[in-house]
Amino acid sequence: MISVENLTKSFGDNVVLDHISTAFPAEETTVILGPSGSGKSTFLRSLNLLERPESGVLHLEDLTIDYAQPISSKTTLAARQVTEMVFQSFNLFPHLTVLKNIIEGPVHVLKTPKADAEKEARELLQQVGLADKADSYPAQLSGGQAQRVAIARSLAMHPRYILLDEPTSALDPELELEVLKVLLKIHDENQSMIIVTHNMSFAKQVANKILFLEHGKMRYDGPTAGFFNSDDARIQAFLASMT
Ligand code: ADP
Ligand code: MG
Repeated sequence: MISVENLTKSFGDNVVLDHISTAFPAEETTVILGPSGSGKSTFLRSLNLLERPESGVLHLEDLTIDYAQPISSKTTLAARQVTEMVFQSFNLFPHLTVLKNIIEGPVHVLKTPKADAEKEARELLQQVGLADKADSYPAQLSGGQAQRVAIARSLAMHPRYILLDEPTSALDPELELEVLKVLLKIHDENQSMIIVTHNMSFAKQVANKILFLEHGKMRYDGPTAGFFNSDDARIQAFLASMT
């Protein structure tokens, strides 16, 4: 389980996250929603220590991090074995084949023997529907394929949680669908995920829990159905703006 208590993050005078407390249940998918600029990316990045809130406490399973205290590189590394971020822009290594992209982390960080890492990488490629792309280079892939490789690469690290910030925002609608299908499949296999998305039908399908951020405050934190059937005027206005 991941949780945060009183997470507060400002950029200058701009309080982007104001005393946020919540939990992300294991083996479930939590979806973070909110208008543009509401702090969703900053929040997700804070969980992965890519942003540094000025105060608050982060619990990553049995690892506790006080944001106000110095954080060692050892702690950062340990934190990133609990949560693995999949970036919008995939961040694949352009000079490495798909297979080599996937085994890079397992071989160099987890010290997995190369043959074992390759075997698992091929299984993961199968899982994301790209068994035939092992020897391709990132430039030879469509955006949807590149994003599925990025997802396979994150799964290869066996993080407890995968964090995805608008994973399909760079993709055309027909390519978006193939990525969402993969995420739904991973969700069905009980991979713990935290996803920021603007796709409401996907959110409705995949989320066990919804967090709704607005103006730095958590305006909703609860079950998916309760959010989409909410009679809160702000939530209704948000949902109306998304259709
Ligand atoms: P969202 O992902 O919900 O669109 P963000 O977390 O990206 O929102 O941004 C929340 C607020 O923080 C915005 O007002 C944005 O301009 C500001 N912000 C984000 N990153 C930075 C930064 N590195 N420096 C200054 N302001 C930032
Ligand atoms: Mg964002």
